[in-house]
Amino acid sequence: MTKAPRFKRRVDRRLFFWSASQRNATRGHECAATPALESKATFGNISAVKTGRVIETRDASQTRLPYVSKSKYLWGLQCPKLLWHTYNAKDLIPEPDAAQQAIFDQGHEVGALAKKLFPDGIEVGEGITDLDETIQHTTPALKLRKPLFEAAFAASGGYCRVDILKPVLTNAWDIIEVKSTTSLKDVHLDDLGFQAWVLTETGLKVRACFLCHINPGFARCGGIDPRKFFIMEDVGKQVSSLSRNTEDQLGDMFKTIQLPAHPDVQIGPHCDAPYTCPLHARCWSFLPETNVTALYRGGQKGFNLLASGVTALADIPDEFKLTDNQQIQRRAARTGQPHVDPPAIHAFLNQIEYPASFLDFETFGTAIPFYDDLHPFQQVPFQFSLHVVASPNQAPEHYKFLAEGRNDPRPDFMRRLREVLPTEGSIVAFNASFELGRLKDCCEALPEFVPWLKTIEQRVVDLLLPFRGFRYYHPQQQGSASLKAVLPALTGKGYDHLAIQEGDTAGREFLRVTFGDVSEAERRRIRRDLEAYCGQDTEGMIWIISVLRQLV
Ligand code: SF4
Repeated sequence: MTKAPRFKRRVDRRLFFWSASQRNATRGHECAATPALESKATFGNISAVKTGRVIETRDASQTRLPYVSKSKYLWGLQCPKLLWHTYNAKDLIPEPDAAQQAIFDQGHEVGALAKKLFPDGIEVGEGITDLDETIQHTTPALKLRKPLFEAAFAASGGYCRVDILKPVLTNAWDIIEVKSTTSLKDVHLDDLGFQAWVLTETGLKVRACFLCHINPGFARCGGIDPRKFFIMEDVGKQVSSLSRNTEDQLGDMFKTIQLPAHPDVQIGPHCDAPYTCPLHARCWSFLPETNVTALYRGGQKGFNLLASGVTALADIPDEFKLTDNQQIQRRAARTGQPHVDPPAIHAFLNQIEYPASFLDFETFGTAIPFYDDLHPFQQVPFQFSLHVVASPNQAPEHYKFLAEGRNDPRPDFMRRLREVLPTEGSIVAFNASFELGRLKDCCEALPEFVPWLKTIEQRVVDLLLPFRGFRYYHPQQQGSASLKAVLPALTGKGYDHLAIQEGDTAGREFLRVTFGDVSEAERRRIRRDLEAYCGQDTEGMIWIISVLRQLV
């Protein structure tokens, strides 16, 4: 097994360059954007040329390689094994799940908004997915010297569609990449570097490269003004140095693609950065349930252990340096028994004053804020569950709220919570900073709730703390202190029986049935699922407290 390498700089041009005899064997027609220079490669029935011309080839015997698109290039930078699969074992790559699809959809919405920055822009090859056709549509569009959306280019094996291509000076272009993030990331530079290289290879003069990302300081006030919503960051300098390496990177990628079997790459942090790899489940499936990658705050440590042949937590040698919490994990894995610190748990439980209110929120956040006073991605609470226990061992009373309609849910949410939340006793939440943070956010938009918030802040108790501090640790937690890990490990009750099993799904489903085109029956079904899910979070906290009391 090898570590995932960044592709080397050297290139074997034979992999995708035509020989002189091959070039002479071709005949074709030109797309009349710019004068033709030398042909460089064949890809299917099309050869890309430096100028962006498209020439039909007639020699079926010449080397035929697929294009490496921008997204595949980025996958190739992340891991050669992933790249190999995209060309040689595509059926093993799962389709995007609902969470990934939601990210893509959001990206499209943000992309559509960015196009409004250029009202005279022209959509190129709208709805067309065939690579060669998109290129053919681009060539005449370039002559118009207007901002172009989704213009397509191919050269020397690379293919890309540019979000926005803006004409500048008399004969140059600026590349604008739109991202639905609030800051610049390294992967964006790789992305732009690739595009700049492809366009330059086709003979286009690229003057500058910009990342058009979301302005984190934007707050909605009425309609969305794209000039305020986006920040245009000039990244030309960073991109140009990356762009110089693209040809070499691409050359190595072609070698990888042509390997008879996938390269043997050890799993590592690269499996989740910059994106979670679609082959994650497959590549990681060899690990035992309780494995070294679950070491709490383990960083590279778990992968170093893997490289030395240790996979199970229980098998970590005694002499291997571990933190105190990691040693607790190893001990628990070896004995199968939980670690318990009774005095610390006793002290924690003593903080809880009755009536105790167990509180949990569900939220959604969108790149483009739905309502006034909202920032991009700001979490909007739309649901709460509150179980109130008057005294230990008494049956809880349940209160709940789930927003109706499409209006801003925050005013009703805050009013209802103020109405039902007891004025005394502890307010117990799991990872309470999240609930407190959402209340503070709401108070910024609804300042009339500020005095009420001040009366409850000091009463909040965070049930996460004894677990994050390893005062209790069960081997089934697999290094996680989240409620979803703690509840089943501690009480044997989990979320498997529920249709909605985690918060992101709750937010997505709420948006779908509130703003989407769904039947009334579907809407009611999902709302029941949401109530069951949020209710389980608060009732689950009561079960956890009950078990902890039995331990001390
Ligand atoms: S899971 Fe990791 S090792 Fe496997 S293909 Fe993806 S990035 Fe490469």
